[in-house]
Amino acid sequence: MFKIPFNKPYLTGKEGHYIYQAVLSGKISGDGIFTKKCHEFFQKKFGFKKVLLTTSCTDALEMASILSNIEPGDEIIAPSYTFVSTVNAFILRGAKIVFADSRTDNPNIDENAIEALITPKTKAVLVVHYAGIACNMDPIMAIAKKHNLILIEDAAQAIDSYYKDKPLGSLGQLSAFSFHETKNVISGEGGMLVINDEAFIARAEIIREKGTNRSAFFRGEIDKYGWVDIGSSFLPSDIIAAFLFAQIENLDEIQKRRKQIWERYDKGLKALAKAKNIQLPFIPDYATNNAHMYYLVCNSIEERSGLIQHLKSKEIYAAFHYLSLHNSPFYASKHNGSQLPNCDRYADCLVRLPLFYELTDNETDTVIEEIKNFYKFK
Ligand SMILES: *Cc1c(COP(=O)(O)O)cnc(C)c1O
Repeated sequence: MFKIPFNKPYLTGKEGHYIYQAVLSGKISGDGIFTKKCHEFFQKKFGFKKVLLTTSCTDALEMASILSNIEPGDEIIAPSYTFVSTVNAFILRGAKIVFADSRTDNPNIDENAIEALITPKTKAVLVVHYAGIACNMDPIMAIAKKHNLILIEDAAQAIDSYYKDKPLGSLGQLSAFSFHETKNVISGEGGMLVINDEAFIARAEIIREKGTNRSAFFRGEIDKYGWVDIGSSFLPSDIIAAFLFAQIENLDEIQKRRKQIWERYDKGLKALAKAKNIQLPFIPDYATNNAHMYYLVCNSIEERSGLIQHLKSKEIYAAFHYLSLHNSPFYASKHNGSQLPNCDRYADCLVRLPLFYELTDNETDTVIEEIKNFYKFK
């Protein structure tokens, strides 16, 4: 075991209590009292038009893919530096992924690389707000609008983060969040689809309920329900929602502590980064920081391996992140052959530091000290 793990799921203390209440309510399948409480919370706090809890962000992305009417051969523009689910959801519907490179100053999709990739087959643009830091959305929204493309946000890491005062997740027609235990607020596994375009709302409810109009039936809008579309079982049990509600009630407190830790890393590592040419997280003026992640970008893969190894020898768990999807065993032969050097550099050189609610200041300082020791920096 590591003295300082990479992540430790934080419990606010109310999770068990709410789960017990959900169980006592006599309805523990989907869309019970806690699911409704969570929906209301997110719609009120972030002004999202409509939200639906899902069993994962992966499932929310699969719903987005069905809602976008993806057909075999349709092209989706997406970053290569991302989690498999971001694009796999669209592969399942037969799409072809056209990968774009990342920016040089942070791993988000390079907004200037998108337009050249558009063809008559392009159906959607997918953005991922890496580390919860916004992509440059104004130009991206303008491109999507100009070419009549659906814009989808993978906001898995982006809860409570903003682009020019607008919450991430509110900018695309559809957005997906994750409550996996590695995210800022959690339910073990869990996710949420945000629907900002009215036109998708009714169908989203149907897709989430196995292709039936059961949601409308339970609201008394129709007198029997049946099979009206394709779909799957994307709604979580109310037990999951009960757990999540205990977390989101404490969102502000969780965010406050995570930001303190993030700032401590940033302050503690600035001088070292400058001296050793290490890249630290860059937050553009248009973006806020939700302290989802603190990372360094080393100068080479050897340097990064050495650093991870050194930290490991001190019982500190630091982790690298995505491998370029365009070079993956599954997709390399389907990729159009373009070079994506920034993406490859993050795949080789980026390392994430421990960051979780209960990480103490002393532990944070220990991580900083050991990074400095590795670089022989005083
Ligand atoms: C965590 C994550 C996902 C997957 O979330 P799940 O809830 O585990 O399905 C997708 N995309 C990104 C960018 C993520 O960080």
